[in-house]
Amino acid sequence: MMLGVIADDHTGATDVASMLVRSGLRTVQIIGVPSATAVIDLKEIDAVVVALKSRNIAPAEAIAQSLSALHWLQQQGAQRFYFKYCSTFDSTPKGNIGQVTDALMLALKTHYTIACPAFPENQRTIFKGHLFVGDVLLSDSGMRHHPLTPMTDSNLMRVLGAQTQCSVGLLNHTQIAQGAASLRAVVEQRIANAAKSSPGEIDIADAVTNADLMTLGEALADLPLVTAGSGLALGLAAAYIQRGLVKADVHAALLPATTDKAVVLSGSCSVATNTQVKHWLDAGRPAMRIDPRRLAANEPLAQQVLEWHALQNDTCLIYATSLPDEVAALQKEFGVSELGEKIEHCMGAIASGLIAQGVRRFVVAGGETSGAVVNALGVQSLKIGAAIDPGVPWTAGRVSTPLLSSPESVLLALKSGNFGSDDFFSKALLSVK
Ligand code: ADP
Repeated sequence: MMLGVIADDHTGATDVASMLVRSGLRTVQIIGVPSATAVIDLKEIDAVVVALKSRNIAPAEAIAQSLSALHWLQQQGAQRFYFKYCSTFDSTPKGNIGQVTDALMLALKTHYTIACPAFPENQRTIFKGHLFVGDVLLSDSGMRHHPLTPMTDSNLMRVLGAQTQCSVGLLNHTQIAQGAASLRAVVEQRIANAAKSSPGEIDIADAVTNADLMTLGEALADLPLVTAGSGLALGLAAAYIQRGLVKADVHAALLPATTDKAVVLSGSCSVATNTQVKHWLDAGRPAMRIDPRRLAANEPLAQQVLEWHALQNDTCLIYATSLPDEVAALQKEFGVSELGEKIEHCMGAIASGLIAQGVRRFVVAGGETSGAVVNALGVQSLKIGAAIDPGVPWTAGRVSTPLLSSPESVLLALKSGNFGSDDFFSKALLSVK
């Protein structure tokens, strides 16, 4: 095993794992840091991604979880490390990207790393240290209204500077455009300078195209630690393969084919998910809505949904997804985290009940929702398959719930809220037969 990745949320982990697989690296995603007794087969695996839920927790806890993931990955033999966060650099002045990076640098005894959230295929680009979402600056995008990590400053040097003890610099686009050899010379100079300082230096890396990510990958392949969104994985994986450190495997994305029963579960209220739910409903496909008001009144909705589902012949959508105004009203009435947790818990209970009904393929929309489903199903690790849309692959795991006498295989497509085309749900279901 070559590369150990620490991801600060579940769908982000799947996103970076998908990039690695696309490049030909056989990749496994682990849900949380495994216990000392967990048996996880990492034979013939080139990259392991540990999925944490550390983006919005207290910095000290995020550091503890990330270090624990690092130590576990080191024990498995990982030689290079990648701290993966969101391509919109989701964080606050309190953290957690800078604080976790500082802690990882200290643990790896390195004084230099880079920060590059760019993901050009999903319209996240960095120029002169400023992050753009599509054609607008991050601070003019919808991210300025994010409920937990509102991003109101597009200058990543300033944003990161508020979170880290390191000095923050820039690998600018002109330096990157001069090619990998020239960029490597710049980086070597920065490493030499950083070694004289304490705790060190983190450089924001510009990137506006995949070609920039390839140049960065080639120039940075020797760093013990990089920090980035999922895009840089493309460049790093290509560099590892080119150097013969890993071998590209054309079958890296192969998962077992199945015609098993499928379901779509949606607990995301993001713009893209709302469009995808509407697309499904407009096509007249079977769907059942989880009414948050009834859930807040403690009605046994999971049971009712399962009874309804047992009578359906076609693949169904079960959703809590609402438009922003309704979400705001519901949150005001019932509390943001209280309501969110109730819905997540309900989705988890529905997922385990669906296992008992023979469902073995799940398309899940929403990062937190995916975490709740995966936990309810007792899935510990996921083998990553082919991408349905950028950043969203099919994955294969093993379900272990009290309802089953022995673990069984399932396929899961875990979609981050804002990913996927309008017809994502149908497309996902068609892409694995
Ligand atoms: P995303 O990836 O789009 O951010 P998540 O699943 O991470 O989606 O987060 C969505 C959160 O909103 C979850 O906690 C979910 O339980 C909650 N939620 C889902 N539907 C509603 C709703 N109708 N009103 C309020 N909260 C909701």
